Amino acid sequence: MTVLRTIVSTDAEPLADLASSANRAALTGCPWHDVKTMLRDVGLRPTRQRMALGWILFAKGDRHITAEMLYEEANKAKVPVSLATVYNTLHQFTDVGLLRQVAVDGSKTYFDTNVTEHHHFFVEGENDLLDIPHTDVVVGKTPSPPEGYEVARIDVVVRLRKRGR
Ligand SMILES: [Zn+2]
Repeated sequence: MTVLRTIVSTDAEPLADLASSANRAALTGCPWHDVKTMLRDVGLRPTRQRMALGWILFAKGDRHITAEMLYEEANKAKVPVSLATVYNTLHQFTDVGLLRQVAVDGSKTYFDTNVTEHHHFFVEGENDLLDIPHTDVVVGKTPSPPEGYEVARIDVVVRLRKRGR
């Protein structure tokens, strides 16, 4: 097990607070109604496509999903969307704090429906992300951000491989 890198996000605003667990705890249990409320709460118009994608994303609890995976699930659920729309929607949801982006390597971006602070194991070869509780990782020294920036969040990705290879 090796820690290959620490990603320090310096994006300006901590928007993730908007979609806190507290907000979600107030949901009623009817996924369709809940997604509408969730979108309205963050100021996104609940269009049909956002509703459908939001429902597919959030109705299954905490998970990590790529744009391609969501696109496939949408197709299976007979939701007529293009891959470009899926990308746009995922990024819109991320911008308002409904999702968290987890960059594993250059080509793979996962979107996490759990926006609370935590880190990830990445299982190489299986392309699987597993949560690491926030308290299990102690970051020793935070580098000083460039002039005009502050550290928004520190994401740790610990890469795993099966023993004996
Ligand atoms: Zn996660």
